[in-house]
Amino acid sequence: MTAKQLRDAAELFLLDLDGTVYLGETPIGDMRRTLGRLREAGKKLVFLTNNSSKTEEEYRAKLCRIGLMDGRDAVYTSGMAAIEFLQTHHAGKRVYLLGTRALRAAFAAAGIWLDEDDPDVCMLAYDVELTFEKIEKFNRFLAEGRPYFATHPDDVCPTPYGSMPDAGSFMAMFERSSGRLPSQIIGKPYTAMGEAIERRFQVPRAHMCMVGDRMHTDIRFANNNGMLSVLVLSGETTRESMKKFPDRPTLVLQDLNKIWE
Ligand SMILES: [Mg+2]
Repeated sequence: MTAKQLRDAAELFLLDLDGTVYLGETPIGDMRRTLGRLREAGKKLVFLTNNSSKTEEEYRAKLCRIGLMDGRDAVYTSGMAAIEFLQTHHAGKRVYLLGTRALRAAFAAAGIWLDEDDPDVCMLAYDVELTFEKIEKFNRFLAEGRPYFATHPDDVCPTPYGSMPDAGSFMAMFERSSGRLPSQIIGKPYTAMGEAIERRFQVPRAHMCMVGDRMHTDIRFANNNGMLSVLVLSGETTRESMKKFPDRPTLVLQDLNKIWE
């Protein structure tokens, strides 16, 4: 497929953040113009992240500050997908959320019944405010056999100081202590977030294009959900390293700006 054919086929672009539209605080190349041209062509843009420690508003503020976001665009996080997942499949259930204050506030604002003592289900998110007290409580609920879900599977989160343990590392810790793994994970590369996005934006997944720099999350997410995909080589994957993965993207571009060449 050529870049033009892909632009014609996709109605909605799901844009990974770090390594795809920016690196740290810096947009990649002339990303503002590239995204502006996609909007002018009538494409819906959704910035998509697995990071459930931050809220929609925090990402919106950053993307606006560096000039990448427009009022027509949307931000979608695995935390938001977890809310939709619970509302759709576990409506009215009491939830213990291992997550930041900001994420707990977003769950509460969406009408999710948060319960610290006797939850029906447990949700693990990327809790950067984790304490031993929370670990103890969550582990006890898992040992008691309560249903267990997680917002996303990433083992590490990139920071200016190197890789930090992310939700996948927390899961590994709880697996060692309780023998349990989540029965469902919401974010990339799984399908629960694809389903949630389809419900939210009312676009069939076959008409969505996932753009990202990671084969095992972004491109596998597209393939698991029947989406088009663009692998960009502006982040962690190279033309050489992509061959080690079983998935194939629809298109490979040096960076997203090349979609207009
Ligand atoms: Mg990335």
